[in-house]
Formats: sequence, structure tokens, C-alpha cells
Amino acid sequence: MTAGPDIAAGRLDAEALARNFADAHPPLDRSTALIEAARCYFCYDAPCVEACPTSIDIPAFIRSIASGNVKGAATTILGANIMGGMCARVCPVEELCEEACVRNTHEDKPVAIGALQRFATDHLFAAGIQPFTRAPATGKRVAVVGAGPAGLSCAHRLAVLGHAVTVFEARPKGGGLNEYGIAAYKTVDGFAQKEVAFILSVGGIELRLGQALGRDITLAGLRRDYDAVFLGTGQTGVRALGLEGEGMAGVLNAVDAIAALRQADDKRTLPVGRRVVVIGGGNTAIDIATQSKLLGADEVTLVYRRGPEQMPATVKEQAWTQSHGVKIQFWAQPRSLQGWPAADGATAVKEVTFEYTQLDASGRLAGTGDTVSLLADQVFKAVGQVLVPSALGDAADLLEIAGDRIVVNDDRQTSLPDVFAGGDCIAGLDLTVQAVADGKAAAEAIHRRLGG
Ligand SMILES: Cc1cc2nc3c(=O)[nH]c(=O)nc-3n(C[C@H](O)[C@H](O)[C@H](O)COP(=O)(O)OP(=O)(O)OC[C@H]3O[C@@H](n4cnc5c(N)ncnc54)[C@H](O)[C@@H]3O)c2cc1C
Ligand code: SF4
Repeated sequence: MTAGPDIAAGRLDAEALARNFADAHPPLDRSTALIEAARCYFCYDAPCVEACPTSIDIPAFIRSIASGNVKGAATTILGANIMGGMCARVCPVEELCEEACVRNTHEDKPVAIGALQRFATDHLFAAGIQPFTRAPATGKRVAVVGAGPAGLSCAHRLAVLGHAVTVFEARPKGGGLNEYGIAAYKTVDGFAQKEVAFILSVGGIELRLGQALGRDITLAGLRRDYDAVFLGTGQTGVRALGLEGEGMAGVLNAVDAIAALRQADDKRTLPVGRRVVVIGGGNTAIDIATQSKLLGADEVTLVYRRGPEQMPATVKEQAWTQSHGVKIQFWAQPRSLQGWPAADGATAVKEVTFEYTQLDASGRLAGTGDTVSLLADQVFKAVGQVLVPSALGDAADLLEIAGDRIVVNDDRQTSLPDVFAGGDCIAGLDLTVQAVADGKAAAEAIHRRLGG
């Protein structure tokens, strides 16, 4: 064992990194897509459509593929879900449309809806086709805060309906977590930025980068200058472990580390521990664990306080990370952090102690009293994100917020009649597809409110 944390950049060479971070699910070729499309029964009242938060007409687009009309298929998809290209890459289809598919039985397997959706949307992107046109200008102006899936979906639908939209985005690039969060191997070749460019190319949307609500703009100002406002700010805070020493070197926020990884031009510059411990059970935990391994960590252990059935990450995602050599330790919760003395008088993490857990007689999670300690050069916290109302400036005082979410009705209308919200900043599934669905629903409601 080394006398201090073993963290290093460039554990793998460029070739190995390129291989590790290549497209996780390469696209279907034309003949495979046609064979797969022919498996669809084109069900009436198709359960796969019911299971899709954006209600894509799945049998219709698969029928278009089967008849050779791939552009028509893509137009059907994007008309319901403008981020159908990204959703084809990141949706947990095994819990949504493909789970609901009538062919999803013990003897058979579901139609590969996600892969077919990618086949169609990739075709349209490659051909550089813009299938949407805008309605005549309404003279109404709408402000959208946040250029993530929720904000961009809302902006696109409003622009198509003829409204003039200004999107205010705090970061230097649009796309939200599509650009800064989703695992690198799910969205390769700068696809997130290509999708943002495609959405903006419909016209009528001005994207102002580096503009944060609560710093550069206020909700009161937006309400004064625009006919309606949509908030799609996501969740910018990260839950703490609540342990002593959480601020020591090597104890890191997984979301920030993933953003750094997504933005790195050269992954050889990214430092990774020899032994990595990840605490959490959702997408973020799976993604930082898998990507640490792909960067060259020797041992990666993901520790989750409950069992596999309760884990927010799907069974497929659990299997995915395990197939990359990540060990999942279920039924254990963090209890303490131990450190090494670091050079400048500070402390660097050395070990995490976990207490085993179980469900007590009333079904509540309880510690057993037995502990296990894991050596760690890096510890990633991935125990959930939260909305930080104070980061939204005057919006925190003007809007009703319950727990850590903005309160909305079915139209995604907040407690202020001209302000709407959607995506991760309201209660919901916390998935890309749900954010897109929220943005679309809010745009339709704003359009009705503005007299459409
Ligand atoms: C690591 C990770 C992996 C994930 N993997 C998946 C996956 O595989 N599949 C899936 O379906 N979902 C996944 N998700 C969830 C998915 O990314 C989110 O549900 C989705 O991005 C939410 O969209 P949104 O538009 O609400 O928020 P975001 O994508 O967070 O976008 C919000 C935007 O608002 C901006 N913003 C924030 N505050 C302000 C402000 N004050 N002023 C101006 N702009 C502001 C932000 O910079 C950001 O661009 C993942 C999430 C994480 C963290
Ligand atoms: S449920 Fe399955 S078979 Fe039926 S329309 Fe949907 S994809 Fe096709």
C-alpha cells in the first residue's frame, strides 16, 4: 500500500481510452433495422405509446421504417419529442416502452424501439433535414430559463407555434445534462451540441449563454419584459453524506466529476484513483463508477444502502456497470471517513467505513451494527441532487416551492399564472424524456394562455 492516496492521470493510453469510451450501443444498419421493424405487430392502442412520457406514435414510426420512409419516421418521432435522438440513446427503455411491448415475454423479446428510434433520427441528422416550419409570428415573447432538455423542448415548441423565445442559460454551452451529465459512451461525437444546433435551426429562438437567473437576471424582470416565463433550471445542488471530514481531499461530488469528464478534450488529463468508492444508487452513481473503471481505476466499489430491487438504477444499468468490473455492495450505509495527512497540513481520504443495513420488522431501513471498511483514493458522492431555491434569486420568494421542487399543476403552471416550470426542478421521473415532455406540455399551455 502506498503512504498516501494513489491518484494519477493517464493510467491508460489514448488508444485504450478511445476504445473504452466508444459508442456503447452502435447504431443499427439498414437491413437490421428493417428486420427489427418487421417484428412489430403495429398494435392498436399500443401499450408502448402509453409507456412513453412524450407519447411518440411508436407503431406509426416503425411502420414508416418498414416501408422505407425513414425521414417520415424521424418526423413522427421528433414531432412528439424534439430530443428523440438523445432519448434513443439514454432512455431506460427497459422500464418504459420496451417493457410495455407486447412481445416482451419469457419466450420472446421486445421490439428494439430505442434502437429503431436512433436509426430514424440519425438518418435525419445525417441528411441535415429540418422537418419543422414555424407558424406566422404571434408577436408574443416568452423567456425560458435553462437550456437543458426541458427548456429547449419548451423553446422549440413555442417557436414552432410562432412565438419569439429567448433562452437564458447560466453555463457556456446549451444542452443541460445532455452536455454535462449523461455518460460519455452514451452520447459520443458531440451529439448533444448537434442536437442543440438542430433545435435552434428552426428559428425564432435566441440562446443567451452565461446568463443566470439570480445573478444576471431576475424573475420580476422577466415577467415585466416577456409575456410568459418557463423555468427549466434542473437541480443544481448535490446532497451531502452528512459525515465528519466530508470536505477532505479526494471526497468528490460525482456530478462535477462527470461534467469535467464530459468536457475534457483529452481524457488522459483526468486524475483517477487506484481504488475508488462510489456512494449512491442512481444513474449518477452507475456512471461515475463505470467511467472511473474505464479511466483505469483498479478497484471500483459502488455501495448502496438497500438491495438491487430498490436501486433507482435499472437492473440493466446494474448489469452494465458490473460487466465493466465494478463491484456493487448492497445493504451498507456510510458511517465515517478516515484520512491520511496530506502535504499542506490538510487531510486526504484513505478509507470509508460502512455499516451493514437491513429492513427492520416495520420495513424501515436500519443499521445492523456490523461494519466494513473500504480503502479509497477517491470517494464519489452520488446520493442525489437537489434544487437550491436561493440560487434562483427572487424566484425563491415569488414561487411556491415544496421540499426541493417548484410546485406546478398539470399544465406545469406555477403559483404565478404567467410562470411555468418543468424537468428536474419539478417533481417527476428525473429523466431526459420526462423533461422533454414537461417542456412540451408547458409550451402548449403557454400558447393557450397567450391566445393560441
Ligand atoms: C450523471 C447523470 C446521468 C444521467 N443519465 C441519464 C440517463 O442515462 N438517462 C436519462 O433519461 N436521464 C439521465 N439523467 C437525468 C437527466 O439528465 C435529467 O433528468 C434531465 O437532464 C433534466 O433536464 P432539465 O432540463 O430539467 O435539467 P438540466 O438538464 O439539469 O438542465 C438545466 C439547465 O438549466 C441551467 N440552469 C440552472 N440554473 C440556472 C439559472 N439560475 N439560470 C440560468 N440557467 C440555469 C443549467 O446550467 C442547465 O443547462 C442523468 C442525470 C445525471 C446527473
Ligand atoms: S407494443 Fe411492441 S409490437 Fe406493439 S406496437 Fe409497440 S413496439 Fe410494436
